[in-house]
Amino acid sequence: MTPNEKTKVLIEALPYIERYDNKIVVIKLGGNAMSEIKNAAEDIAFLKRMGINVVVVHGGGPEIDRELKKNGINPKFINGLRYTDEKVIKAVEKVFHRINKRIVNMLKSKNVKAINAMNCIKARQKSQELGLVGEITRVDRQKLAKHLGSDHVPVISPIGTGVNGQKYNINADTAASRVAVALRAEKLTILTNVDGVMINGSLMPHIDFMTAKKEIRKGNINKGMIPKVEACIYAVKNKCPKAHLINGLVPHSLLLEIFTDRGIGTEIVYKNGNN
Ligand code: ADP
Ligand code: MG
Repeated sequence: MTPNEKTKVLIEALPYIERYDNKIVVIKLGGNAMSEIKNAAEDIAFLKRMGINVVVVHGGGPEIDRELKKNGINPKFINGLRYTDEKVIKAVEKVFHRINKRIVNMLKSKNVKAINAMNCIKARQKSQELGLVGEITRVDRQKLAKHLGSDHVPVISPIGTGVNGQKYNINADTAASRVAVALRAEKLTILTNVDGVMINGSLMPHIDFMTAKKEIRKGNINKGMIPKVEACIYAVKNKCPKAHLINGLVPHSLLLEIFTDRGIGTEIVYKNGNN
């Protein structure tokens, strides 16, 4: 890269640094959270130094599956959501605690203050059929604001607490979108293990709400991609200005997405040409 090209990259970042200064960005790490946080930790450190308030929500599907199998339990899914009983919720809590700690430590190793933001999601049972799967009733904004105020990155595990203290399992994409809306975040970025939304083999740089619904109906968007797209639609519908899906396995995908003109991955917009 010539000196000229280097300065061009830095200058290109300026409007984005201004736009996100002191704003909140919610980042969801996928089920492969460990490889993703390894890639993302430095980027998050960069975002923090640029004055962005970062909030992390993590998933953990594959590790939960391994934990359940170790205990002789077969994972069961209904419409992409994990059927959760007492034994499963115990395993989920244990695995999430472990993943949360790893993320916090990884951020600390990059000199970023980070904290497990416990008990900031209130929930109730979503349906009888799914057992202890929760539906979010409230996000504790005060608690999260306090962490942000002391310059920490709150790291949220998608577990909700019911009025009676019962713990509920919540899809991490859904949790991230509810947190983004509750905190009036400037952006929701979901890191996953693919480049973005693929339709008939091509990556969609943008997808609007109507097209997304249609492609879900046609089955072109399926399985784990459904809650992601729905989470992004929920966010943009509820005044979160931007929602993106990017590949968390690509080094520095977060920086590229936030600080360059071209961006990467798939941006979910409410209406075509309107966002
Ligand atoms: P995460 O752990 O990040 O939540 P998931 O496995 O739950 O990841 O969801 C991502 C997966 O969704 C992809 O690996 C892919 O197999 C699947 N998927 C389904 N439909 C699509 C689509 N249209 N475009 C891209 N990925 C899709
Ligand atoms: Mg998933």
